[in-house]
Amino acid sequence: MKPDSKRFVDLHVHTNFSDSSLAPREVVEIAQNKGLSAVAITDHDCVDGILPAQEAAQGMPLEIIPGIELTSENEEREIHIIGLFIDWQQDWFGQKLEQIRQFRTLRMKEMIGRLKENEVDIAEEDVFSLSTTSGSVGRLHLARALLAKGAVNSIKQAFAMYIGENSCCYVKRMRIAPQEAIAMIKKLGGIPILAHPGMQNCDELIVRLLPDGLMGIEVFHINHTPREVHYYSELAKKYNLLVSGGSDCHGEGKGLPFIGKVRVPYHVLESLKQAAAAKNGEERQ
Ligand code: AMP
Ligand code: ZN
Ligand code: FE
Ligand code: FE
Repeated sequence: MKPDSKRFVDLHVHTNFSDSSLAPREVVEIAQNKGLSAVAITDHDCVDGILPAQEAAQGMPLEIIPGIELTSENEEREIHIIGLFIDWQQDWFGQKLEQIRQFRTLRMKEMIGRLKENEVDIAEEDVFSLSTTSGSVGRLHLARALLAKGAVNSIKQAFAMYIGENSCCYVKRMRIAPQEAIAMIKKLGGIPILAHPGMQNCDELIVRLLPDGLMGIEVFHINHTPREVHYYSELAKKYNLLVSGGSDCHGEGKGLPFIGKVRVPYHVLESLKQAAAAKNGEERQ
């Protein structure tokens, strides 16, 4: 086996159980080909891609970390909270995710209705067929359908013209506070991590969420500049937060920020694992 200094991981990857174009099996194949040691499956509000990824990785020297990216909202701002090492098969959590999924389905129908009012005709089937049946349907699916239909020239334009947070056809998701997302992840024995702080413009929130149990921040992310990587790694040190990171790969949905492209060293995963083991050991005592 390679020494740890030559091993890399990707702790933020989507599958087609949310809004990536890649099936879990394809994620595993790419990660294996890139020589990664571990991949965390972190779909938006959905855990159904974890088991197929684990099955596909059987017998490979590739660890699959069970994760999720929960969408929450703070003062009208969308805040993504990642949970790693979650005990994802708990009944209460399945019920909560089902509630979120149903809300997402209704919300999507409403967005399609608003598009119609704006003279853009998209069939529900064109959007829902891009997601797996049990999966989590979202705006990236709708953007892809708009692009396929020729209603926009790019995914970016779909968000700018129609479905961005301040656009005419945007509809909110079910409201979950960041504190609630953190509490759910902790109840599942996982590590709650603030996703891509460089994109969220909410540094003051990091400090406010510490007493609620926020344990880490993503330092490495495809959209973080080297300056942001440095800034957030210093911030993590200052507040004694764990460091995480990954590619946030969505397959072709967002123009290939590909698996493993963000080089996250293996020791980042080791520290997270130690923290998860320590936390769960403490809670059992
Ligand atoms: P939803 O959870 O359904 O609101 O959709 C969120 C998805 O849309 C995530 O994958 C976001 O990263 C993506 N998204 C949000 N804004 C944009 C944008 N301006 N361009 C591309 N993707 C975006
Ligand atoms: Zn996404
Ligand atoms: Fe995100
Ligand atoms: Fe993501």
